[in-house]
Amino acid sequence: MAQLNLILLGPPGAGKGTQAERLVDDFDLAYYATGDILRAAVKEESELGRRAGEYMERGDLVPDEVVVGLVVDRIERSEAQDGFLLDGFPRNPDQARTIDDELSRLGRQLTAVLLIELADGEVIRRLSGRRMCVKNGHLYHAEFDPPKREGVCDQDGSRLVQRDDDHPDTVKHRLEVYREHTSPLAELYEERGLLRRFDGSRSTSEVHDHIRASLATLRLESEL
Ligand code: AMP
Repeated sequence: MAQLNLILLGPPGAGKGTQAERLVDDFDLAYYATGDILRAAVKEESELGRRAGEYMERGDLVPDEVVVGLVVDRIERSEAQDGFLLDGFPRNPDQARTIDDELSRLGRQLTAVLLIELADGEVIRRLSGRRMCVKNGHLYHAEFDPPKREGVCDQDGSRLVQRDDDHPDTVKHRLEVYREHTSPLAELYEERGLLRRFDGSRSTSEVHDHIRASLATLRLESEL
């Protein structure tokens, strides 16, 4: 079966994590979300967490030398040999180069970059209602995608909380950081013919259907 080596791109709150949960099931991909990895490290108070925490709290990017190794290490794992989905990485052109170098060293290449687009106003509206379970990071929205029991995760029964960096001032800053450092990647991948755009303002299941159809086509094409 052809590999699907994928990157999920898009502003905070566009639905990357929610879509990833579904795509990983559909296509049996190894899933690596740098934000999740870093948040777990902060919770554990590990050395990594100590180095990353203050940047995350402000909504700034964690320095490349802290983040890059996390991804390189995971792409080499056996679970990622048939394909992976990266969420939240790369976030700047240097990180994008790292992925290219690493993949070419392994004799592999990117299959596609999935860009979920969403306007700033909608990002702010969504993130202000976003809730995350403390155990596994499952995502909900107080208004649009509420859990069955308020404040409790449907999937693992753990408590739902608001992320520290989902508070309004930090969200604005994260959007600025996205615009300055991350959004130029869309053009870069577009020029390479890898970019697929999806309208993040559609419902979760519509976006999911569109991405799934696009990936099914890509997989078929690569097997021809
Ligand atoms: P996310 O969950 O993807 O929104 O990431 C939360 C925070 O983790 C970001 O605001 C950054 O502080 C940090 N972070 C996650 N991924 C990266 C990355 N690839 N490079 C630098 N910082 C990152």
